Amino acid sequence: MTRVLVVEDEPAIADLIAMNLRHAGYEVTLAASAEQAQAAVDGVLPDLVLLDWMLPGESGLQLARRWRADARTRGLSIIMLTARSDEADKIAGLDAGADDYLTKPFSTKELLARIRAVLRRKAPEALEDVVEVAGLRLDPSTRRVARGDGGQARAHGVPAAALPDDPPGACAQPRPVARPRLGRPCLHRGAHGRRARQAPARGAGAGAVRPP
Ligand code: CA
Repeated sequence: MTRVLVVEDEPAIADLIAMNLRHAGYEVTLAASAEQAQAAVDGVLPDLVLLDWMLPGESGLQLARRWRADARTRGLSIIMLTARSDEADKIAGLDAGADDYLTKPFSTKELLARIRAVLRRKAPEALEDVVEVAGLRLDPSTRRVARGDGGQARAHGVPAAALPDDPPGACAQPRPVARPRLGRPCLHRGAHGRRARQAPARGAGAGAVRPP
């Protein structure tokens, strides 16, 4: 489940955001100050932080700068939440390391859409959406692959994307097709491979299918 840390010092806003995020399937942790937020991040790194700018004590802007300067927290996804709407403030927020910026008041739909967009940019595999390709279902939350008909696909622990492309000149067959009389295996996909599997024409002799 995607973990979201909500750093907001106004309880009513924090509770409203938390309720909507939980309803949308996120695991939510609340922090009412930069100090509480730092303690939460020190414990478990969230997948995304909704960070209010105006906080008691250290501001959200200062906290974002500090997280970006720390190797452990540099990759945190951060959306700044604030009542400030001046262009200069937005630029300051983004320059401090925020991935996006949302001005209060905002709609729940827009908040959820921006969260999905930031997570998609940072780590596509963090999304909970099930992906279906060629009759296979990939569930990122469980990291399981299953056939579309409900059967379990064979898993080898290697993502398909990690498999290398065929090397140049690789044979289309799993094993080379031996040609004892020619003494050469099939080394090329395509026309030569198809010709190599054909029976020699009657009376044509070994030279009939000799590769060029
Ligand atoms: Ca505030």
